[in-house]
Amino acid sequence: MKNYKFWFCTGSQDLYGDECLAKVAEHSKIIVEELNKSGAFPHEIVWKPTLITNELIRKTFNEANQDEECAGVITWMHTFSPAKSWILGLKEYNKPLCHLHTQFNEEIPYDTIDMDFMNENQSAHGGREYGHMVTRLGIERKIIVGHWENKKVWEQLSSWMYTAVGVMESSHIRVARIADNMRNVAVTDGDKVSAQMLFGWEVDAYPVNEAVEYVNDVKKGDVDALVEEYYSKYEILTEGRDEKEFRDHVAVQAQIELGLEKFLTEKNYHAIVTHFGDLGGMKQLPGLAIQRLMEKGYGFGAEGDWKTAAMVRLMKIMTDGKKDAKGTSFLEDYTYNFVPGKEGILQSHMLEICPTIADGPISIKCNPLSMGDREDPARLVFTSKEGEGIATSLIDLGDRFRLIINEVDCKKCEKPMPKLPVATNFWTPRPNLEVGAAAWILAGGAHHTAFSYDLTTEQMIDWADAFGIESVVIGANTDMRTLKNELRWNSVYYR
Ligand code: MN
Repeated sequence: MKNYKFWFCTGSQDLYGDECLAKVAEHSKIIVEELNKSGAFPHEIVWKPTLITNELIRKTFNEANQDEECAGVITWMHTFSPAKSWILGLKEYNKPLCHLHTQFNEEIPYDTIDMDFMNENQSAHGGREYGHMVTRLGIERKIIVGHWENKKVWEQLSSWMYTAVGVMESSHIRVARIADNMRNVAVTDGDKVSAQMLFGWEVDAYPVNEAVEYVNDVKKGDVDALVEEYYSKYEILTEGRDEKEFRDHVAVQAQIELGLEKFLTEKNYHAIVTHFGDLGGMKQLPGLAIQRLMEKGYGFGAEGDWKTAAMVRLMKIMTDGKKDAKGTSFLEDYTYNFVPGKEGILQSHMLEICPTIADGPISIKCNPLSMGDREDPARLVFTSKEGEGIATSLIDLGDRFRLIINEVDCKKCEKPMPKLPVATNFWTPRPNLEVGAAAWILAGGAHHTAFSYDLTTEQMIDWADAFGIESVVIGANTDMRTLKNELRWNSVYYR
């Protein structure tokens, strides 16, 4: 990823003289300096000279477009800035936009306030003039209100930065499809041309044996070294299997990991899909190998699910560098627990769950796959962290995309599942299983999800808004009748 920066542009005008403008510049410099010093932001904020003329505003926004490192512009109206001055610049600007609606002073200086002070510090007024124009132009932007030293404002601004990087990086996501979508499956398929037009995703198919050639070319010494790494890093649960045979099966996954990684690196892909029914010369379904690649930041979708693969990659980008991140993974709704008071959905997949979401020890097991005709694949087995997260599903409705976001509460399973040889997560969807699942199904959500502990609903909505697609939130306040109406109204708006 690039070393992204965000520009801080302050709006004003020359109505109040040079002394006022000098103070405006000084204030915005202090804000930028302090924000950068706070350590609360994932990227540097770059101060820009105060924008007071149509020409300068237009020039600055075009420079922001051109600057590859600029991931967005933060705008602040210190004083009144007549918004016709912003029209041409805003129209030509094509990156994420934030309107930081703040002012330099936190408190009204009751004892000293006079007309000069009010004229100088009138963002309450100038921000409305500017906001009107952005609305009239129909431009998406994040509006953040509050004093610039307030931690809540920092959190919002920081979250928006992660989202903005997601918007910028979306058009660099390239998905390698190793084999096609699973036959007869509907929800994992979709219009790749539309996805590229909208999100910028490049989705290309390769014959599986082209990837197998990379796997076969991996040197034995490299495989052995990686197996050693696995054996030192993970618990080895042979469960009565022959030690040597077990290690050989693990080595197959190590070879696949190295081969696929070389394939992806050489061809510049950031996400990959596989299909258990089309493995060509692969000896095993890539399990452990894919889990490790996901941990390294690659997106993944099973059974050819390129939309989820791209979303997993996107959400990994959107959480990159986040302190104390808890993890992001591909998941699948598998089995319910319907016991009253303990309701939830067991999340898993055949094999491919990212170890970033693991809680506690991670072990390697080797078991039959119950599907397909290959040898027993080695896989990483673990349970996942507790806490809130979001499960997302991007679906293609034929004429448009819809992003479904469900807020979920991840929990420990009530009891261990010693006979289940796959990684799992367990969650209760909000508002509860009954409404959460019904709402998800009504909205058309898939069985595959891109899941993260580290992103908020708001961030995903902002991402969807940036591309003009519908987002449907299923959360604490969801009720079926309101949701049904929302979907009906949306179907009119988004056609
Ligand atoms: Mn699946």
